[in-house]
Amino acid sequence: MSSAEPLVVAEGLVKHFPVRRGLLSRVSGQVQAVDGVDLRISAGDTLGVVGESGCGKSTLGRLLLRLLDPTAGRIRFEGRDITTLEGSELRTQRRVMQLIFQDPYASLNPRMTVGQTLVEPLKLHGLHAGRERERVAELLHTVGLAPEHAQRYPHEFSGGQRQRIGIARALAVEPRLIVCDEAVSALDVSVQAQVVNLLQDLQRRFGLAYVFIAHDLAVVKHIATRVAVMYLGRIVEIADKEALFASPRHPYTRALLAAIPQPRPGARGDRAVLGGDVPSPANPPSGCRFHTRCPYVQQRCREQDPALVPDEHGHATACHFWPTIAATAAKPQPAGMPPARVRLERLQAAFLTRPPTDQT
Ligand code: SF4
Repeated sequence: MSSAEPLVVAEGLVKHFPVRRGLLSRVSGQVQAVDGVDLRISAGDTLGVVGESGCGKSTLGRLLLRLLDPTAGRIRFEGRDITTLEGSELRTQRRVMQLIFQDPYASLNPRMTVGQTLVEPLKLHGLHAGRERERVAELLHTVGLAPEHAQRYPHEFSGGQRQRIGIARALAVEPRLIVCDEAVSALDVSVQAQVVNLLQDLQRRFGLAYVFIAHDLAVVKHIATRVAVMYLGRIVEIADKEALFASPRHPYTRALLAAIPQPRPGARGDRAVLGGDVPSPANPPSGCRFHTRCPYVQQRCREQDPALVPDEHGHATACHFWPTIAATAAKPQPAGMPPARVRLERLQAAFLTRPPTDQT
């Protein structure tokens, strides 16, 4: 890999799933889960991927890890094309690309002790042969657990501790890229902050790259270095975190940011609250896929699909009219909602204080 080559490069990534109907399971259509995604992720970076349920963000994460075969497009990892790897070559490649799941309990085998869970990937990849026990103790220490935890079963741990075990399992094989798929969504908000802080510490220590898939923009704002906003299988906006949160351009991004609860009751602004549901990815709208929900829609939007066009700073937007919208619409201000406000304050407070890591 040349020094200028990002860790991961995805070009024109497409994943369509066939829709089968009837007794004979005939293919009657295609769900366009991911439809032409280009991405670059550098070592040490965190790409936040946000969007509503069904927008394709989890499918994208699994495509990058080669857990799903792309319908079209290419993926390069450290300069090597991994799109069509199979068999032992693919297994070897997967060692450096790991996944952390949303539900740590469901992703751990209840019949295996934590020690057995952590030894399994070491044996699979022939790592640390003869000193697996030491490596397990090392991994548990790294994620803030004690060596004696290796003897326990998953049900003996709290949700936060189980997610730490999931992180230790991902780290066991010394990955370069970790996809965190809603990795903190199932956790209590104070535990979320501790796990996010742990992920950041590990990133600094091991130079990891993360793809952080989440629907909670407050968490993404904290952890990401770059953010991609997905809608119906496409990236509609991608930019460095600061630029995206300070100057969102796409109407969908503006609506998502406007929906973040914030601690100023009565704050006013561009309440670009989204109406309606996400259209079916099996039958996406013509032209701009967002046109059925966009408050700024014009005839051109129904006919022409806007390209994702970057500016000189790498802030890319897929909207025909974003300069006009950005110039005329008020800056999005999150709506104040007392229960969510309390939640956000707790989250912010938790990020500012770092309690001992073995409390989760
Ligand atoms: Fe809205 Fe048109 Fe822009 Fe699509 S292209 S986001 S419909 S203004």
